[in-house]
Amino acid sequence: MIQGGVLGFRRPALIAVVAVLALGLSACSDKGGTGTGKDGSQPGAGDIAGLPVTHFESGLKPDAPKPDLQVRNEDGSEDDTLAIAAIADAQTYWSEVMPRDFGQQYEPLKSLLSYSARSDTEETECGSVKGLVNAFYCPPDDSVAWDRGVLLPMLRERFGKMASAVVLAHELGHAVQYRLGEKANIKKNTPSIVKEQQADCFAGGYFRWVAEDKSKFYRVSTSEGLNQVMASLFLIRDQAGTSATKQGAHGTAFDRTYAFQVGFEKGPKECAAMNEENIKARITERPFDKGDKGKGDSKLDAQIIGILKKSLDDAFKGAGVPGPEITEDGNGSCPGGVSTPPASYCASNNTVSIDMAKLRELAQPVDQQAEWESGHSEGKGDFAAFSEIASRYAMGIQKGVGASIDNANAGLRTACLVGAWAKASSVPGATLRLSAGDLDEAISDLLSPESLVSADVNGKRVENGFERIEALRKGYLESSSVCSTQYG
Ligand SMILES: [Zn+2]
Repeated sequence: MIQGGVLGFRRPALIAVVAVLALGLSACSDKGGTGTGKDGSQPGAGDIAGLPVTHFESGLKPDAPKPDLQVRNEDGSEDDTLAIAAIADAQTYWSEVMPRDFGQQYEPLKSLLSYSARSDTEETECGSVKGLVNAFYCPPDDSVAWDRGVLLPMLRERFGKMASAVVLAHELGHAVQYRLGEKANIKKNTPSIVKEQQADCFAGGYFRWVAEDKSKFYRVSTSEGLNQVMASLFLIRDQAGTSATKQGAHGTAFDRTYAFQVGFEKGPKECAAMNEENIKARITERPFDKGDKGKGDSKLDAQIIGILKKSLDDAFKGAGVPGPEITEDGNGSCPGGVSTPPASYCASNNTVSIDMAKLRELAQPVDQQAEWESGHSEGKGDFAAFSEIASRYAMGIQKGVGASIDNANAGLRTACLVGAWAKASSVPGATLRLSAGDLDEAISDLLSPESLVSADVNGKRVENGFERIEALRKGYLESSSVCSTQYG
């Protein structure tokens, strides 16, 4: 039995309703930069949870000290070096934070184990590591172990050098919660989702400290560096359709990035305050409904676009402006205006022009197995395609109320409104109903370089994934009014 691994299970939707919910949006002025980044992206609307937007290579500092830690079975590889530095670093963090925030000393881990899932058969008090592609905290021997053979190199090659620090900081989070016990609402029968959300949150607290340049080992930029973190958390999400109440549940990507961001923004006390009740109230992870066909993915055709249009009209009727028509005329481009295929908002005639064939490709079900093995799934799911269209529709609403549509704030406000619409689609009786896995399809889209969900009318999006995901989540969890106040 493994406790507290970073991964839950190895692994992979909208249907009809609509809510009476009417999203309001008021006219607003815009602030924030309008410059363009090297990939056509925009600088953020201001800051990352109060920290400046920074760009530099994230990873170990050139003058990082050598960690003074005993590690069983280490092989001196780059992945061991990164993992051991992350453990040493996060332990330093906790030796500062535990007395400050919780009035107790941090006791270092009793043992550390590096292994390769390809070949090693080491034993721990939690069982053998044979073939175990994971990292975990084992309470009986107070140890942290990690797979340097498959998991860590794969994450590093795909996302960069901060990926293993995310994994190890998460495991340290479990060690901390065992030390805090009831101070962190942890009892013997605490459900795994509570432990996992807290561990992601504690990892966020540690990353904040690194981003503030308090670490001797690591440095992380708030743009590309935190993008690595977001992408790593996305990959290690649970399989769509998992129940949050299942033993071993870790959360959707939406839930995992949320917990991380709470720790980053509010600190470890907020993490320790997470409990079964408040997590249950907001967790998005749930099984597929009985009526969901396939994995909840709808086939994109004229009929479903009609339902989508109705869902958007209903959701945004509170704005009091005509919602754009959605049309295949123009095939995703906007003659005489700016084209952002596969969907463009044409301000001249208030329409959203879509390329049905391209969007249908995007709407193919996510292949979580392929994504895990090769880093690539052909489709991103129906909700990714719906979100792209919804984002262009939201552009029309924003223009209608006199908000700007061509800068970083407009991009973030758009992601926020897509989140608010997704929430409206999650209530019983909605025209288009959100199914399990849908929110993660929106996040997958948000993390891809060509995504429109957080893009302004010209297709430019803010460059950091942290802000993009936060904007979507705020709209979903709070309300559409936060979209105009936050990104005004
Ligand atoms: Zn865990």
